[in-house]
Amino acid sequence: VRFHWLLSSFLTIFLLSSPAFAAKLQSWRFDETENRLYITTDDNVQPKAKLIFNPTRLVIDLPGTSLGRQAVTQPVGGAIQAIRVGQFDTQTTRLVVELADGYTIDPKQVLVRGQTPNQWTVQIPQPERMAGGSELSSNPSYQPTASNTTNAATVLENVQVTADGLFLRTRGSSPDVKVQQDRRRSMVNIELQNTTVTSQMQGLNLAVNRHGIQKLQVSQVRNSPPVARISLNVNKNNSGQWQATATNLGGVIVLPPGGSVASNVPSSTSNSPRAQKTVTIEDIQLSGAQILIKTDSPFTYTHAWDQSSGAFQISIPSAQLSERLRDSQTNLRTVLSSVQLLQTQDSTVVIRVRPAQGVQIKEINQPSTQVLSLQLQRATQANVPSANVPPANNPTSAGGYNVPKGRIVIAVDPGHGGRDVGAVGIGGLQEAGIVLDVAKQVAALLEQNGVQAVLTRTDDREIDLEPRVQMAERVNATLFVSIHANAIDMSRPDVNGLETYYYASGQQLAQTIHRSLLPVTGGPDRGVRQARFYVLRKTSMPAVLLELGFVTGAQDAPKLANAAYRQRLAEAITRGILQYIQQNR
Ligand SMILES: [Zn+2]
Repeated sequence: VRFHWLLSSFLTIFLLSSPAFAAKLQSWRFDETENRLYITTDDNVQPKAKLIFNPTRLVIDLPGTSLGRQAVTQPVGGAIQAIRVGQFDTQTTRLVVELADGYTIDPKQVLVRGQTPNQWTVQIPQPERMAGGSELSSNPSYQPTASNTTNAATVLENVQVTADGLFLRTRGSSPDVKVQQDRRRSMVNIELQNTTVTSQMQGLNLAVNRHGIQKLQVSQVRNSPPVARISLNVNKNNSGQWQATATNLGGVIVLPPGGSVASNVPSSTSNSPRAQKTVTIEDIQLSGAQILIKTDSPFTYTHAWDQSSGAFQISIPSAQLSERLRDSQTNLRTVLSSVQLLQTQDSTVVIRVRPAQGVQIKEINQPSTQVLSLQLQRATQANVPSANVPPANNPTSAGGYNVPKGRIVIAVDPGHGGRDVGAVGIGGLQEAGIVLDVAKQVAALLEQNGVQAVLTRTDDREIDLEPRVQMAERVNATLFVSIHANAIDMSRPDVNGLETYYYASGQQLAQTIHRSLLPVTGGPDRGVRQARFYVLRKTSMPAVLLELGFVTGAQDAPKLANAAYRQRLAEAITRGILQYIQQNR
């Protein structure tokens, strides 16, 4: 699958500086005469839009939003066939605009606009007929944009308008920042040294109309080393010094004259410039089999597994850390391999913990308004489900298997990624994209069935084999499922079929998933085999590696390119995993 992230998803002014997890999709409506989608949520969201090919469809994700009801498909007709709305994963509601065969839209003309932070419209341009037969190569403007590959120390990834100013999100090391002001021309240039700009950000021209900034432009200055320049057109009456400060959280904070840098710098304990009641986190301590987080006043929180780092993350908005907290965490070392306390630029405290070897997080709850409790338990292989929960009444769930939450963690490992696209087959079909799509669906389906899932990668990035294994070990994964697609010489389209591999303790898991997948693939059964793959040898839990089919195969390739088929594969893999868990309770 090829993705095209839309520029317009970065253009909106209601950007939130950290994800919220509490919103619900209240209503949505597609206006056929205007080609416009209206979305209303009950809390702030930041929609993300992308165009996906094969088949062509526009996907609008609402991170931190739950649908709270069954998925629906609304037929439209014509070049826009239907709008689908469903829960993509535990934290994301997804709206999909499906285009008729042979049609596409210009992703640059998709406009995602916020009326308010919880009311959005998505303007969809008139679909156009694709020129020529193959949509894969017909129009060069739809090629996915590659990241800049020069070796600068820092990459500028995004520009966000925050409550206080701007936040320039960066990856890599913390850049040196220079601010140049030209009062006569009402221009402010913020230059990040030794920094490249992602291709999506290059040439970004954004109307801000906030904080005295009329608009901003992003450009790459091709010096050696390169410089990322953010040019602001500012109001004339906004005299005084603009400030730009690099933080150690991966970003640069830009504040208008009179703004306060100190309140935004991570780990600062000063007051927020906004008159909001701030909760102080006074203590984090181990008490029996639980970690207690105590505050000086009532608070709310959200929690999530940060899948890229394998950490459990608790976010407390409008909060600060007490000074004495820094040295009170020594006894946590016995149950946690790491604790990170972060103060974000929007006054949220993030507590990020990784359980130590042999420890799992069982549940999180708030026994009183000023205490948060994180319940822990020893991880053992025998800790497989005993209680029953009602069957998930969800059309997208993989079956009626019931597994209580919090005891089992499945590491789902989409192979390859980034520069390593894996196997390349018929029509340029790439393994890395196929397996990421399947793996993400497996993770979402597991979560829907009450089983925690951790993905070793959640986007198109390059990750070595070793960190994949380390992540599974860090979260004490119960099972490890690596997902791949096969390839052989392009001259052998006759070779097709499913193969499943294991090394040590994974044989039964391999057989169970393989049996579950066979009726879906329908193609040749190439068997369950033992192999010394790195991720199978180095993982301590039962581990399998699935080769879902051949991207070079005449039978397999068109199926693997089909989204509905990949969904059936994901459902079958999930069924196999759940079945294995049940058999081993
Ligand atoms: Zn592979």
